[in-house]
Amino acid sequence: MDFVNTIKSKAEQYRAYTADVLSQLVKTKSYSSKEEDVCRLIKRLCEEAGFDEVRFDGLGSVVARIGKGSKSIAFDAHIDTVEVGNMKNWKFDPFSGEVKDGLVYGRGTSDQKGGAASMIAAGRILKEMGYAGDYTLYFTFTVMEEDCDGMCWKYLIEEEKFKPDFVVSTEPTSCRIYRGHRGRMEIRIILRGISCHGSAPERGVSAAYKAARAALAIEKLNNDLQPDDDKFLGKGTITVSQMDVKGPSQCAVADYAMIYCDRRLTWGEDAELAISQVRKYVCEATGDNPEDVVIEMPDYEKVGWTNKEYSQELYFPTWKIPQDHKLVQSGIKSYEKLFDKEPTVDKWTFSTNCVATTGRHNIPAIGFGPGDEAQAHAPNEITRVEDLVICSKFYALLPYVLEGKC
Ligand SMILES: [Zn+2]
Repeated sequence: MDFVNTIKSKAEQYRAYTADVLSQLVKTKSYSSKEEDVCRLIKRLCEEAGFDEVRFDGLGSVVARIGKGSKSIAFDAHIDTVEVGNMKNWKFDPFSGEVKDGLVYGRGTSDQKGGAASMIAAGRILKEMGYAGDYTLYFTFTVMEEDCDGMCWKYLIEEEKFKPDFVVSTEPTSCRIYRGHRGRMEIRIILRGISCHGSAPERGVSAAYKAARAALAIEKLNNDLQPDDDKFLGKGTITVSQMDVKGPSQCAVADYAMIYCDRRLTWGEDAELAISQVRKYVCEATGDNPEDVVIEMPDYEKVGWTNKEYSQELYFPTWKIPQDHKLVQSGIKSYEKLFDKEPTVDKWTFSTNCVATTGRHNIPAIGFGPGDEAQAHAPNEITRVEDLVICSKFYALLPYVLEGKC
């Protein structure tokens, strides 16, 4: 069989179908942890497209399968979205799912129900082609990513022992091949003072002034952070995102301060390093004994639509894979065969489920998805139907290229 041309013509034939699938997904609101309706819709769409098996996992993600080869690859789309924000900034109904002039309109079109629609179309194509190769093809439609990226995959891997050999994230890449992104973590700092009457502040020790010095120390730490060796992912960052100070009354010296930080982690930086840096900078600035300062990673603790108890610390490890990795090279080859030109290979600015699959569990991953990263979380979100078709072709061809069949 001429795999390349068969896939190309089928994907074109399913152009309107793919756009309509995305439209249906957009019309079905699915904020993080409230994805039941869209998960049930996706299960039905996968069954109609002929997938061999479609199930829900414990957290409510949809796991669909085609084939039963000895190796495995998972195409992943998170199917929750962020909220719409200020409606005044929208020029159209965020849940219209309108398809017009080559665009699909609405919340989640780029981030990232477009990837989900292309995956369903690719599955339909692969079933029609009777795919029965060396790979078991999984299509995962995962929950709660916007709140806690990777937790859905941490659950699949650690609790359900589901660990494919390769992962393709379908988050928006503007149809470029991505092979990494910075990690991130959240850090909470608790500083203590000694309260006294506000009329005689010299008797106390102000947690407020400690917090101010600590915040400026975080600014200095941010300036001192170094880029990664090959500068592929870029420099890590830290910033103060929240502060809170209090004492026994508004007429007292404050004896409690909380500083919350967002830390982005480049290659070679992990949670232990980041916390030790914060401890050093903060204690130098406040004069506190390092053992007396609480510096911790908070936990994420929302319960999803299946009511399953599951949580993790707010730590999302950095990941990348080399340019010469088989998965990157197979992605490049698939792209060249389909589109007769070289793809751009790059990285995401934001974070994805690959923090778990690859950052935590070392499963090689690449990203290739429809739509633009800049559309994510913004009002008036759109994606291009052309991107959906490009991606359905890419997902359908990649398994054949990985096997060396073309
Ligand atoms: Zn996303």
